[in-house]
Amino acid sequence: MSFHHALPPAQWPRLEQGWVWLCGAGPGDPGLLTLHALNALRQADVIVHDALVNDDILDWAPQARRIHAGKRGGKPSAKQADICDTLIDLAHQGLRVLRLKGGDPFTFGRGAEEARALMDAGVPLKVVPGITSGIGGLAYAGIPLTERGTNQAVAFVTGHDADGGLSASVDWQALAKVSGTIVVYMGMKHAQAISDSLIAGGRSADEPVAVVMAASTDAQRVLQTTLGTLDADIRAAGLEPPALLAIGKTVLIEGEAAPRVRATTYVVAAE
Ligand code: SAH
Repeated sequence: MSFHHALPPAQWPRLEQGWVWLCGAGPGDPGLLTLHALNALRQADVIVHDALVNDDILDWAPQARRIHAGKRGGKPSAKQADICDTLIDLAHQGLRVLRLKGGDPFTFGRGAEEARALMDAGVPLKVVPGITSGIGGLAYAGIPLTERGTNQAVAFVTGHDADGGLSASVDWQALAKVSGTIVVYMGMKHAQAISDSLIAGGRSADEPVAVVMAASTDAQRVLQTTLGTLDADIRAAGLEPPALLAIGKTVLIEGEAAPRVRATTYVVAAE
């Protein structure tokens, strides 16, 4: 299949046999894929993808076999070591392997572990960054992470450890003091503990929080609440992962500033 017509003219890199490209797919809206990721989709023999990768994106690679290697909510549905072994095995079979991960592969996505395993196994590897949900996804809810004069620092943190508990290595109380906006990935399960720790660290119970579920997809929902009422409001609204917590004085710019979710139908296969 020729893919030249679907991409602007350029010397697009070839996904060679026996290689793995570790690519970000962005937060959901297919329009947030990079051109390099699209180029990889058009060439892959096999795609090993996460639960978070939108089916509409996978449909752009009709020639590729799909292997689902998702993990959700801290409960591994596929062991990380098995995913790494699968990638190595597929590459050793001489296939063109696309490892497609939600958002950005090196942002809370275990991309580093996979890259190390592939390098240790001598498998040639290319990393293609993606738009992370904690930036691009929040923009779809009209949330600017920084604003001159109001907030000049952002912290990205994970709400749970590999074992599913509240991230023990994150000093939440210190974080409360240093960062204007705090963006929490995987923070739904421990929302109460996160609020308690930040309030103990000096943040006000009235501090605004936006919870953005399924950002940039048709299922996007945005909840505006406060630290003190966060957990109760998440439950009352019935919000579920994947969702981000954006904590801080960040102003939610509603209406026109928030891109319309999935306003565009993208067609890339017309050749
Ligand atoms: N590598 C991904 C993050 C993987 S960790 C990235 O860069 O975005 C999984 C967590 O990411 C989810 O629990 C959720 O907190 C967040 N997430 C990913 N996609 C999301 C989306 N579309 N909307 C809201 N949160 C999302």
